[in-house]
Amino acid sequence: MQKLAIIGGGISGVSLAYLVQQQFDVTLFESQDYLGGNNCSAEVEDGHKVPMGVIIYPSRGLFENTLSYAEKFGLQCRPAQLPHIFCNNREVKYRSYSGSGHFLRDIMDVAYLNFGIKSQTASHDKTIDDLIAKTRLSRECVDYLLAPFAALYLSVPYSAIFGLPLSTVAGWWSTYCHPFHLMSSFSFIDGGNHRLVDGFIDRTRMTTRLNSEVTKISRDSDAVLVRFAEQQERFDRVVFAIRPDEALSLLEDPTNTELRILGQIDTNTLVSTLHRRPYDCENGDITLNLYGDERGSTHMVTTWGNRKCFGFDLKEEVYTSLHQADEEPIDSSDILAQRTFKVPVQTANTASVAGQLDRLNAESDRIYYCGSYFCPSFYHEDGINSAIALSEMLQDT
Ligand SMILES: Cc1cc2nc3c(=O)[nH]c(=O)nc-3n(C[C@H](O)[C@H](O)[C@H](O)COP(=O)(O)OP(=O)(O)OC[C@H]3O[C@@H](n4cnc5c(N)ncnc54)[C@H](O)[C@@H]3O)c2cc1C
Repeated sequence: MQKLAIIGGGISGVSLAYLVQQQFDVTLFESQDYLGGNNCSAEVEDGHKVPMGVIIYPSRGLFENTLSYAEKFGLQCRPAQLPHIFCNNREVKYRSYSGSGHFLRDIMDVAYLNFGIKSQTASHDKTIDDLIAKTRLSRECVDYLLAPFAALYLSVPYSAIFGLPLSTVAGWWSTYCHPFHLMSSFSFIDGGNHRLVDGFIDRTRMTTRLNSEVTKISRDSDAVLVRFAEQQERFDRVVFAIRPDEALSLLEDPTNTELRILGQIDTNTLVSTLHRRPYDCENGDITLNLYGDERGSTHMVTTWGNRKCFGFDLKEEVYTSLHQADEEPIDSSDILAQRTFKVPVQTANTASVAGQLDRLNAESDRIYYCGSYFCPSFYHEDGINSAIALSEMLQDT
């Protein structure tokens, strides 16, 4: 049996290991002390874990593989009813379910967002402001609904949304948002997403190396050498299931295709904090708080209660706050757990990496790639889909 090394134990690496275990002798390398990558949870009370990263899925048939594996592993998926509030400098500007008080304008906004925005998915040289200039979409709808949620889901600062290509925002909205209400369109795995990762691990025969950061990969005439923790191991093939720029930095002799594609991605650093005090979170509902001058502001903190929004069985509410790395909105004495994530930003550079995965794998010499980072939306399902596609390709080679 050929030896295959998978670098990266996030959902992409773990699902790939599950899929190719019959065909290869698999070793999974993970630099941290747990498997799951962004699918991580922290224990906040005896035996009760709360997610720090991935939580929700659109319930529109877009996450078929995530949901079908959850079902296969006996996990419950529940629709999320997530009331949300947008505030600027603590003043409520938008509250879901209650509307703005301008009935006709709200109807026009909803109609445009749901049906008109689709036609903007090819508008690479326009921005959100062109939408307002050209259509009847209200500025309030853009500033208080579209922009904050796009900032949250596309992992960029609020102010950056106004400079993004309109195609990026329009593509995200028309693919992932529900025709009639943004937040009723999602579901989640009961108890947290780490359970899905555990489902794969429990059913996979492999060697797992935790706390094993890979530091160099080189090809020689008949093997690929993996260096980690001052050791070296030979493999027939290697798969990177990590960020493309990190993969490039580990390659001793990248091919021209690898050099051209892998270095392109732009990233942003986000922090997820679990805490007990609500700060500016209203009622435990998802509250997006923007601080500072509206459109110029990068400072937005999104906070929700895990008991309120996801039914976690906790004695006391535990809040999650997501924010940019240069902000510290939570009192240090109140922090239960904190994690930092580097995520792709949806720029033209990043988009050029996405879509070249097949080419990269077809042209690459014994080293292959998979993961959400290579896909346009950076969603969980993208990671599993890319693992499925690669497992099929490996079967044919
Ligand atoms: C805060 C946050 C919330 C999110 N919420 C959602 C959500 O609700 N729904 C959704 O669909 N998507 C969500 N996403 C996106 C989702 O996390 C990703 O699409 C997906 O989880 C990425 O999985 P992955 O396996 O490709 O990468 P990762 O999860 O990043 O896994 C890569 C792994 O490789 C390891 N690694 C890196 N370098 C090395 C090395 N040199 N040697 C060994 N190991 C290494 C890392 O430690 C990590 O464990 C969220 C992302 C973040 C950051």
